[in-house]
Amino acid sequence: ENKKSLNFIEQIVENDLKEGKNDGRVQTRFPPEPNGYLHIGHAKAVCIDFGIAERYGGICNLRFDDTNPVKEDVEYVDSIMEDIQWLGFQWKNVFYASDYFQQLWDFAVQLIREGKAYIDEQSAEEIARQKGTPTVPGTPSPYRERPVQESLDLFQKMNSGDVPEGKMVLRAKIDMASSNMHFRDPILYRVLHIPHHRTGTAWKAYPMYDFAHGQSDYFEGVTHSICTLEFVVHRPLYDWFIDQLATDDYRPHQYEFNRLNMTYTMMSKRKLLQLVQEKLVSGWDDPRMPTLCGLRRRGYTPQSIRNFVDSIGYTKYDGMIDVSLLEFAVREDLNKKAVRVSGVIDPVKLILTNYPEGQTEEMEAINNPEDESMGSRRVKFSRELWIERDDFMEDAPRKYFRLTPGNEVRLKNAYIVKCAGCKKDENGNVTEVYAEYDPQTRSGMPEANRKVKGTIHWVSAPHALDAEVRLYDRLFIVEDPAGEKEKDFRELLNPDSLIVKKNCKVEEYLAGAAPLDSFQFQRIGYFNVDTDSTGKKLVFNRTVALKDSWKK
Ligand code: ATP
Ligand code: MG
Ligand code: MG
Repeated sequence: ENKKSLNFIEQIVENDLKEGKNDGRVQTRFPPEPNGYLHIGHAKAVCIDFGIAERYGGICNLRFDDTNPVKEDVEYVDSIMEDIQWLGFQWKNVFYASDYFQQLWDFAVQLIREGKAYIDEQSAEEIARQKGTPTVPGTPSPYRERPVQESLDLFQKMNSGDVPEGKMVLRAKIDMASSNMHFRDPILYRVLHIPHHRTGTAWKAYPMYDFAHGQSDYFEGVTHSICTLEFVVHRPLYDWFIDQLATDDYRPHQYEFNRLNMTYTMMSKRKLLQLVQEKLVSGWDDPRMPTLCGLRRRGYTPQSIRNFVDSIGYTKYDGMIDVSLLEFAVREDLNKKAVRVSGVIDPVKLILTNYPEGQTEEMEAINNPEDESMGSRRVKFSRELWIERDDFMEDAPRKYFRLTPGNEVRLKNAYIVKCAGCKKDENGNVTEVYAEYDPQTRSGMPEANRKVKGTIHWVSAPHALDAEVRLYDRLFIVEDPAGEKEKDFRELLNPDSLIVKKNCKVEEYLAGAAPLDSFQFQRIGYFNVDTDSTGKKLVFNRTVALKDSWKK
């Protein structure tokens, strides 16, 4: 095994195991809120949560953090499971925070009985106003000292349906002067008259995130509760609740790592949902989206995403990752796996004037020079070929090594040809390019190894398949769209993030390609078969160009 140095979370776990903590048990959880599709940032969390369990012989459960019925949906639950499995991970159990509503309720009742929680009838604004600042203590609520029985009765009422939303909340009674703002009597429950995707209308009072998360970890037996850095300040409260609840020595512990922020990308689920709802993208799986289903449709492999996450690592300080690292990862993975094919995006016809009409030859093409075991295939060659329009120039500069009158180039896997000129329409557009082939230059022939400076790709015209090719680029034009606070993020969308090419020509071999299969279109980039593709109408997505051509 490639012994890379351990990240700080792995070090913590190894230390705990060495010290015999938790009876040698390692248990993690991945806790998505089912209010959107997973994105590349979530993949980073998935990889550490599941990865730690795998590496140390523990278990990782999938827990849907579904305490807020407002934005949650079964559609999201299903997609989250699909995406985790696609990344190659498997949970031990599926849990729902909503399964603990009764236990959490009972715990809240216990806190009220112990004088550690009370019902506050002030508005959210009033409560916020009394919070104070980190240096100025907060103001106690006028309801803070109300009798326990009154709070118990009102808490029941909060869940009866008779209390309108916003009319009252349950708050912990901790310390209105604490230097940690989260200790200033945090809200534990609020009223929501919204049916829940699993518990229906059974509950009207719903627990807040802070009151659900740590306790859920405790109920399940989590040992290492891994989350992102913004929860550092919540950790003391996480520990406080569990200390109130625990009847034994077992404690789950929270550890925080830096969330993934990536250039030219936005990861807020709220904004991604907005892109979908306003049809600024074709859906959650639009190949420009940073969602895992979007990346999958774009041609990203699970391995490339896992390699990317590995390469950026886990630290305790926030930063911005260059999206070109993700692009590098998929290029590197597909380089090893993708068959090299010919695809002509912007075709113009090349006619070999000295090649017999009606003749067809078969040329051998190596499927992947990086992997001999992938073998080779036969590719048809004939008098009329499709080539890229920009592989011909009538008046070329000195260093142009492709087709220009008098110049020789090699047709990949076939002959060397010498350009003779072209035909143009009345507007001056080139309609046909002419060349003569040298029969001695095919592989195996005496002149096969003659050196010419340029090699271009081609597709035999009578054998070519028509295809639509979707050229995708970055969705945003600025490096940090989330950082442009004064601009509407919709104004930062890249107008050229999708260019559709409808008249492309690809080689016959691709007739058998299935949706999501990946290929390298030689000299151009990596492409995969889109889910819209059919036997009658082939559609390809550009996953990534061969080289990083993004202009800084
Ligand atoms: P949003 O704030 O957009 O709703 P979220 O962080 O609340 O996103 P969750 O569904 O709660 O989304 O996230 C599940 C897990 O994934 C959490 O542990 C969270 O810390 C982690 N996570 C979310 N976004 C990122 C990110 N960009 N990088 C790393 N981990 C992330
Ligand atoms: Mg959220
Ligand atoms: Mg969250």
